[in-house]
Amino acid sequence: MTTKKPKLAVWKFASCDGCQLSLLDCEDELLALAGEVEIAYFLEARRATVKGPYDLSLVEGSVTTAHDAERIQEVRRVSKKLVTIGACATAGGIQALKNFADVKDFLSIVYASPEYVSTLETSTPISAHVPVDFELHGCPINKRQLLEVLTAFLHGRRPSIASTSVCTECKRRGIVCVMVAHGTPCLGPVTHAGCGALCPAYDRGCYGCFGPMETPNTVSLTRQLKVLGLGDRGVEQVYRTFNVEAFENARANGQG
Ligand code: SF4
Ligand code: SF4
Repeated sequence: MTTKKPKLAVWKFASCDGCQLSLLDCEDELLALAGEVEIAYFLEARRATVKGPYDLSLVEGSVTTAHDAERIQEVRRVSKKLVTIGACATAGGIQALKNFADVKDFLSIVYASPEYVSTLETSTPISAHVPVDFELHGCPINKRQLLEVLTAFLHGRRPSIASTSVCTECKRRGIVCVMVAHGTPCLGPVTHAGCGALCPAYDRGCYGCFGPMETPNTVSLTRQLKVLGLGDRGVEQVYRTFNVEAFENARANGQG
């Protein structure tokens, strides 16, 4: 008797496809995964699709159009478990910069014929629209963490993803702290671990690609950024990148 393999679906919303590429980048592991699951819907990898319901859906991208706001409801309806992957899906992405401005200004500056563009005024994470079973952070996500999430869901357990900051990864690797040694602004103290302290390893400050860690102390970091000579505008620019919405929420909650 043959047992049916669990069905995996991968969905794209407003995004650059980088997180889906992280899945394709798994290469050897992807072949093993294909032996364990039926890749039923993954348009970036194969044209053929299999109808739902799906056991696990991975969702990349944020909601920026009225059509996508409807589509995510349908994705949730056909998915037993739904995991969001990447800064766009978990925090609205860099496109959420428009949440802090008038979208009409962007439309007229960027597009020659803005009347053809249909967009919502905000870019919002998937969790603002439907219940989400797990959020995997990163811009892009880390493929090892993605494999852990896939393995965990296939075996019915919670993924084991560290909830510490980038600073802990920095210390483990013995990297010289760029903020202490060179006065370079760095979001590492408040950013979720996962990248392996990639930027500090190349003498650059962390850009916060993995979003705020649990209970980030933005008050202390903001104070330190000001000690380094950044004014209010400079501090704002440090926080407003790929996870702008999540960091602004964290700052509002911590008042820093
Ligand atoms: S989180 Fe980053 S890498 Fe992933 S889709 Fe969004 S912009 Fe691309
Ligand atoms: S370089 Fe940044 S991430 Fe590394 S220890 Fe210093 S503040 Fe933390």
